[in-house]
Amino acid sequence: MKTVTFRIRPDKKGKWKRGGGYFDVWIFPTQKGVRNAYRNFNPRGQWRDVRAFCRRLNDGNLIGVIVYPRGTGAGVVAHEATHAAVDFVAWDLRRRDVPSMDVEPICQAVGNIVRELTVGFYKHGVWK
Ligand SMILES: [Zn+2]
Repeated sequence: MKTVTFRIRPDKKGKWKRGGGYFDVWIFPTQKGVRNAYRNFNPRGQWRDVRAFCRRLNDGNLIGVIVYPRGTGAGVVAHEATHAAVDFVAWDLRRRDVPSMDVEPICQAVGNIVRELTVGFYKHGVWK
């Protein structure tokens, strides 16, 4: 299996302040691929427990990269999507960061909520 890559645009309809912002998405076949990518960005970071990550790049219209392994569940997808949303808003406002906001607990909560919602939707036959 090879790495899957694609591009996403949070503001597809052009309704935000800045136009053209996008994220590249990388989906590695293995967890090891994700951790190697993480280490390339953060040589001294804590990479051992990394499952997926969102890395802000601010390279013109490239806001950042969102990186997952294959087999990622809805909770982890939502967690990194929440990081991407925060990065997108900061990029749109031309700020280095969205200030005075502890982002990680919010991403954890959104991930858990989306995972539970997904389980409920399938369990009750809303999604098949
Ligand atoms: Zn996080």
